[in-house]
Amino acid sequence: MDLSSNVAQITPSLTLAIDSKAKAMRAEGIDVCGFGTGEPDFDTPEHIKEAAIKALQEGFTKYTPSAGLPELRTAISEKFAKDNDIDYKPNQVIVSNGAKQSCFNAILACCEPGDEVIIPAPYWLSYPDMVRLVGAEPVIVQTKASNAYKMTAEEFENAMTPRTKMVIINSPGNPTGSVYTREELEALVEVALTEDIFILSDEIYEKLIYDDASHVSVASLSKEAYDLTITVNGFSKAYAMTGWRLGYLGAPEAIAKVIDSLQSHSTSGPNSFAQKGAVAALKGSQQCVTDMRDEFNVRREYMYERLAAIPNVSTVKPLGAFYMLADISKFGLSSTNFADRLLSKAEVAVVPGVAFGDDKTVRLSYATDLETIKTGLDRIEQFCRTI
Ligand SMILES: *Cc1c(COP(=O)(O)O)cnc(C)c1O
Repeated sequence: MDLSSNVAQITPSLTLAIDSKAKAMRAEGIDVCGFGTGEPDFDTPEHIKEAAIKALQEGFTKYTPSAGLPELRTAISEKFAKDNDIDYKPNQVIVSNGAKQSCFNAILACCEPGDEVIIPAPYWLSYPDMVRLVGAEPVIVQTKASNAYKMTAEEFENAMTPRTKMVIINSPGNPTGSVYTREELEALVEVALTEDIFILSDEIYEKLIYDDASHVSVASLSKEAYDLTITVNGFSKAYAMTGWRLGYLGAPEAIAKVIDSLQSHSTSGPNSFAQKGAVAALKGSQQCVTDMRDEFNVRREYMYERLAAIPNVSTVKPLGAFYMLADISKFGLSSTNFADRLLSKAEVAVVPGVAFGDDKTVRLSYATDLETIKTGLDRIEQFCRTI
């Protein structure tokens, strides 16, 4: 069989492999502590669900424009102005079936075979495969734990070639939990501007930020930054709406226009009544977001203290998202081997860092209740003593 060479390069998601093994163990009645998940454990806030239910009951069940409901695009435009200090008019906003599709649309709109896309590692595992899917080449920049897994301007510059077309910045980051400061972003933008490189800024974890960190949007930094940046965001993480499949991007008008067209021929507009829920999410009280963030923060503190106290494990205290990387390289096992043994011997599921381009670490998600986190950390501590 002669399949597309772009598709042939795609690797199945490693996170799903561990996940299915954990599920199989659970099905056998084994009490697995799951730190593998990449989604909030909270339910979607009630007022958001009600808005979608109301839309359904009122027969709001037809196609919406491919770029999304005008009402929602306007609400997002206002959100960008208020929260991010970015001026995206409603026609510069494209709503998609999840921020994942927004990222893919952005890459598809900007990149083609022969182009290179710079991705700092550890990265969100879909970026390199999205780049390969459009026939472009991912260029991975290994970041250092000593710099909280953030790419420096120098590392960025060293990875640039005449073929560099885009750089992907994800702050707060998955799986690192790292948050770039304004100064760090400004330095990266300065490098990108020297060669007019597009910046894909994935800001999906914007609302999950801790201590004295603050979120800075790349497109807000300057007019020049704005012109090169596509800002991606969504509802999944901030509002616990992963299954609703709603994300969005804001971009300069010419880019937004192309993305509207390409989406109109691939998936069309997102789910009609889900978009009504999203309007309620943006327009309603943001207390639910703060409450979930506060709960995540309690877990973060606890998990960090426990992990940091385990001999031969080192970890960087994350400032955002709901993940933590544990450096397990001192045990001399690959991340997959470590995760596999941890699951079968100690019944704890984590994600091997190799999936994120870093074989020294495993990722723990604290999007699970504190009881599970406590039990799981007891088991990890015990397991690490026996290696
Ligand atoms: C979860 C996630 C997304 C995509 O979320 P959607 O559910 O598709 O909106 C995008 N980027 C990162 C870094 C994520 O972790």
